[in-house]
Amino acid sequence: MFYCHSVLKVGSIINKDNKNRKILHWLRNDQRIQDHSIFSNLNLFSSTSVFYLKSDKYNDQHFLGFDYINEKRKAFLEQSLKEMKQKLADRGIELIIINSIGELKKLNLKADVLTYQKLYGTEELEEEEKILSIFSFEKMKIQDFTLANTEKLPFSLHQLPQVFTSFRKKIEKYGNYNEPVTLPPLPQNSFPYKMRGGESQALNRIKHYFDESKNLATYKETRNGMVGTDYSSRLSPWLALGNISASTIFKYIEDFEEIYISNSSTYWLKFELLWRDFFQLQLQLHGSLFFRAGGVQQKEAKFLRNTKVFWKWANGETGDDLVDANMKELNCTGWMSNRGRQNVASYLIHDMRVHWRWGAAYLESQLVDYDPASNWGNWMYIAGVGHDPRPFRKFNTVGQAERYDPDRTYRDLWLK
Ligand code: FAD
Repeated sequence: MFYCHSVLKVGSIINKDNKNRKILHWLRNDQRIQDHSIFSNLNLFSSTSVFYLKSDKYNDQHFLGFDYINEKRKAFLEQSLKEMKQKLADRGIELIIINSIGELKKLNLKADVLTYQKLYGTEELEEEEKILSIFSFEKMKIQDFTLANTEKLPFSLHQLPQVFTSFRKKIEKYGNYNEPVTLPPLPQNSFPYKMRGGESQALNRIKHYFDESKNLATYKETRNGMVGTDYSSRLSPWLALGNISASTIFKYIEDFEEIYISNSSTYWLKFELLWRDFFQLQLQLHGSLFFRAGGVQQKEAKFLRNTKVFWKWANGETGDDLVDANMKELNCTGWMSNRGRQNVASYLIHDMRVHWRWGAAYLESQLVDYDPASNWGNWMYIAGVGHDPRPFRKFNTVGQAERYDPDRTYRDLWLK
């Protein structure tokens, strides 16, 4: 069992000198107070200031005509930032929200150490380079986005298995799971499930899914569902912004296993968290190849660049009911099930023959749980240019509809 955690990094900040160091923290997808290397340890520093920089794509449009970040994603982020601002203010810290690098430079912020979460998407790395060049003082990165980070992996990053099953087996056999820095207390009274950004809603969701409904106990049987909100954990939006860490979720699964039941469903949620880690580490290893047409396999791939066909797919007007229902749900809510995502991606790529990168960019724009590694990694996988021993992952959408929506409940919900 492997899990390295960022608390080690805090250790190094403390050991280095003393408690008198002033921290400037650059908030990224670590938007939580609990299980956070800096915010869970505020007493260790003389003072802390925090800023968040909005993506330079925030108000831009993709060349296909949609916003890079649509309104639902923006709303989820704004809700999360609002809660962070309040929680930090309660601790006497101002969260400064900045719209551009120029604005950040003008502020001329001073500290002894700049701390920040390391992210590996191409744009995230470019952003990091720009930010680091502004500050002349010491910098310290925190690696807390995954369960496994490279320092504690049972292999070097360059030996990272290219196929998920080999990765999972090695991790399960030789990995080392760390405890979270702090385990957040679950809310006393849970309120109805809402897809709102922020740490409180993430904990509320855990409380509902694990404690109240105990749906985790049947996750393996329900996870391919499409109707309702409880067929899967729905933790991805909060994981994407770091409103809750993967280590914390892992620990709550273990607690559930101890208190209620340990079965194939509880194991399967851990298994899915390893899929998440697998894509994060693959992105770390392969970098910009994730976003190129030929993917990590650097394969020659031929696709249509037909905007008319693309928009039929994006608007849910293909004539394939399963695909159309899923695209309508996405456009209306910012959410789509995993079953839906696999089918719409396969349909765009293998039935409509449209470039997979257009589909990936559209889901990036719409999904409230958008994450570079999980989104582009899964698209590559289905396009046959990613980490898949099978060269061609085509879904028969009619067969899938018969299997997963036999009485048309899901399709009628969105198409009638
Ligand atoms: P659960 O089934 O409850 O799983 C728990 C957690 O495990 C998820 O929250 C997620 O963090 C992780 N997980 C599960 N399946 C996968 C997977 N296939 N790959 C990576 N992690 C996984 N996930 C995102 O978080 N952001 C994305 O932008 C994204 N884009 C996708 C695009 C396509 C084309 C496909 C096929 C999948 C995509 N996924 C993405 C993966 C997966 O569909 C979602 O993580 C999942 O549906 C989220 O629902 P959940 O939290 O209820 O998942």
